[in-house]
Amino acid sequence: MDFAFYQKLTQDSLAGVELSDEICLRILTDPKLYLLSLVHSAFIVRKTHWGMGVQIHILNNAQNGNCSEDCSYCSQSKTSNADIHEYPLKPDNEIIAEAQRAYEAGAHRYCMVFAGRGPSWQRTEHLARLVREIKSRYPIEVCVSAGLLDESKARLLAEAGLDRLNHNLNTSRENYAKICSTHTYDDRLRTLNSAKAAGLQLCSGLIAGMGEKPESLIEIAKTLRSLDAKSIPVNFLLPFEGNVVRYPDGLSPQYCLRILALFRLLNPKAEVRATAGREFHMRSLEVMCLYVVNSIFLDGYLNSRGSMRRKTYQMLLDAGFEIESEYPLEDLLEKAEESETPQESASAEGNGCSARIKTAAELRPARVG
Ligand code: SF4
Repeated sequence: MDFAFYQKLTQDSLAGVELSDEICLRILTDPKLYLLSLVHSAFIVRKTHWGMGVQIHILNNAQNGNCSEDCSYCSQSKTSNADIHEYPLKPDNEIIAEAQRAYEAGAHRYCMVFAGRGPSWQRTEHLARLVREIKSRYPIEVCVSAGLLDESKARLLAEAGLDRLNHNLNTSRENYAKICSTHTYDDRLRTLNSAKAAGLQLCSGLIAGMGEKPESLIEIAKTLRSLDAKSIPVNFLLPFEGNVVRYPDGLSPQYCLRILALFRLLNPKAEVRATAGREFHMRSLEVMCLYVVNSIFLDGYLNSRGSMRRKTYQMLLDAGFEIESEYPLEDLLEKAEESETPQESASAEGNGCSARIKTAAELRPARVG
C-alpha cells in the first residue's frame, strides 16, 4: 500500500467524507497495511481537532450489580457469577465527594454509572438533583449512564444541567441478540434518539471482541457517525471470570489499534476514548492509542482495575501529551507518586488470564458519612 493511500484516508476524514466500506475493511483486515502509517493518518486527524490534549475521565459506579438485564459481557448482569462487590445506590454525599476527588485528580468529566434496565421517574428526579448539585459545586462536565430512557426523562436530566448521556450500542444490530435477550438494539437506539431530542450530547460506543465480524465494527462506527455521537468509548472485552461471554475474540494489540483508527477516521471530531481493556489488550502498544484517541479513563473501569494513576500520568508526560485540567500534569504525577504504595502498583500491574476485579475500597474510596 503506497503513501497516497494513507494520505487519502486523512484527507477524506478531515473533509468529512465517509470512508467506503471497502476502505474500512482494509483498515481492519488488510495484512499489507503498515500500522505506523495508519496510526499517522489517524494522528493527523486527532491533532487537527484535539491538538495534543487528552481528556481524563473518571467513573463512579454509583450503584453496582444486581441488574435485571442479561448482557452477557457484563459482570453486573443477572447471568454473571463474577465475584464483584454489589451495593445499592450510594448516598448523595458519597457521590458528591467522589465528584470532588475526580475534579482534583484532573478529570475533565465525571461519569456516574447506575446498573439496571433504566431509571424510574422518581430515580430520574433524584439523578437530576445530583447533577444540579455537582454542577453547582465543581467546574466539571457530568455524564450519566443509567440505562434505557425516554425523552421526558432525558429532558429532566438536560434541564438539571447534564452534559451528556452515555448509552453504548455495544455491538451491531446483527450481533445484538447473541449478547443480550432482555432488551434490543432498537431499544438502545431509541434511548440515544430520545437523549438527542432532549438536547443532550451523546456518548455511545462499543465493546469489541464479542464475536462480531469486522463488518459489524464498521456498521457501529458509521451508525455513531450518523447519530453525531460527541463521545465514543471503545471498549475491548475484558475476560471476567463468571461472565457468560468471557473470551475475547481475536483482539491483538495491533487489531485494537486498527479498530481505534477506524473509529477516529470515521468520526474525526468525536472525542474517541480508549476505554476498558486498553491496558489488558494493547499491552506494550498502549501508548500508541494516544496518537489516535484523545480521551482515556483514569483509575480503571466499572468493576475492573486499570493502570495506577502514576503510570497513566507518566505515559502521558513521556509521550508529550497534555491534559485538559487546571492542575498541571507534573503536579498530578507527583501527588500520585506520594499516595500510591509500591504494593498497590505491583498488584495493579499483574496480568493474569482474567480481568482484575476492583476491591470494595476502590469501588467506594474513602467513604463518607
Ligand atoms: S450492561 Fe448495564 S443493563 Fe446490561 S447487565 Fe450490565 S448494568 Fe445491566
